[in-house]
Amino acid sequence: MVGGTLGVEAALSLAHLVIFGRPGSGKSSLAERLGADFGYRLIRTGELLREAVRRQDSLGRQVESQLKAGQLVPDDLIGTLLETNLVAGNQERLIFDGFPRTLGQVAILERIEERCQLSIDAYVDIHLSLELAARRMTGRRVCPKCAATYHLINRPPRVAERCDHDGIMLISRTDDSAEVVAIRQQIYEQHSGPLLAHYRQTMGAKFQEIDGSGTFAEVYQSLCRHLGLVG
Ligand SMILES: [Zn+2]
Repeated sequence: MVGGTLGVEAALSLAHLVIFGRPGSGKSSLAERLGADFGYRLIRTGELLREAVRRQDSLGRQVESQLKAGQLVPDDLIGTLLETNLVAGNQERLIFDGFPRTLGQVAILERIEERCQLSIDAYVDIHLSLELAARRMTGRRVCPKCAATYHLINRPPRVAERCDHDGIMLISRTDDSAEVVAIRQQIYEQHSGPLLAHYRQTMGAKFQEIDGSGTFAEVYQSLCRHLGLVG
């Protein structure tokens, strides 16, 4: 066997991943980068729901009526939506980004694995403390004139609170206010606790926890190393 072949085989065998992480963990950016570097298609239920509504097929109309009524889209409907989007026996490489979100959706994923003849090779949690995630999210600033983005800690402007390009006073997005961040984190913790505990207990070595506290480059490198993916 030629040197390096094992690495390629290891990379190819990890065809289906699930990635978890709290708001602010960088989970979705990491998934996007993995997709770009290693040819994974990202499966995001939010995007699938929006697409279905735009298509206005029977599934899309069901989704739309749930959303209009202010209801959460039932897990069964999400499952059907995912199944119609995945081709059984297809060789494509997938990352489930933010699914399953709740313990109730675990069975949905198992059903998908069975019906679409695929199996999840690794479950990865990008771990970050609540404090650090909140600091990252509330530290974001944006220029209201040119839309340049900054971060008070990671990417501060040259002059405090002023845009580098035009000197305009920077603002926070309403999504990033301490109050909204706290609510999003609370919702995440409510669901993720039992969900991660389930996978930690049942998946053995297939479940991996990655330290998400470093820079994006550091976390991405660590993620690739844990998955045996070499860019
Ligand atoms: Zn600006």
